[in-house]
Amino acid sequence: MTVNLASMSQGPTRWIILDRDGVINIDSPDHILSPDAWKPIPGSLGAIAELTQRGYGIIVITNQSAIGRGLMTGHDLAAIHERMHEWIERAGGRLEAVYHCPHAPWENCACRKPNTALFHQFSKQFAVPLARLPAVGDARRDLEAAIAVGAQPVLVLTGQGRRTKMDLERHPLSHPVEIHADLAAFVRVLLGNAMRTGPLPES
Ligand SMILES: [Mg+2]
Ligand SMILES: [Zn+2]
Repeated sequence: MTVNLASMSQGPTRWIILDRDGVINIDSPDHILSPDAWKPIPGSLGAIAELTQRGYGIIVITNQSAIGRGLMTGHDLAAIHERMHEWIERAGGRLEAVYHCPHAPWENCACRKPNTALFHQFSKQFAVPLARLPAVGDARRDLEAAIAVGAQPVLVLTGQGRRTKMDLERHPLSHPVEIHADLAAFVRVLLGNAMRTGPLPES
């Protein structure tokens, strides 16, 4: 196997957007309020490492209304994310950036998904067009935000995913949604397709 160090040193060549709770880590109806409560979904860290090693820049966009609800502070969230980065780096992966909305639903902000301000912030900061980027989530609002910015919505059945799938069967979205059992299953398909359509690594 050859590794293209030249392209790796130039940073990511492809991008993917992930929701956090219910996609990377096990969700809790009581919110994740401390680093010890942050537990990865089996397979998710390995999937993130695979993406990183295949040249993907990984962006997390997450609603964290526990801040707006007064259940935790921004410092608490920073400590949780420090732990998340540690777990991911130990597995061989890397997150380029984590964007969070700290607001409660009733604050009517522009950044809480299904609103799209954080997607546009990422796009501007990294000069990456959002069109057709895979955006993986477990909740309807993740998929709605992805569709609103022209990204490719992907539903995983972890977290709230099964409930979301039933909801989509009754109330479909305006755009077809790809569905996978979990992040690891989606990444296997994504990287399998890239293998078939991309340039041969040995050439
Ligand atoms: Mg979620
Ligand atoms: Zn917000």
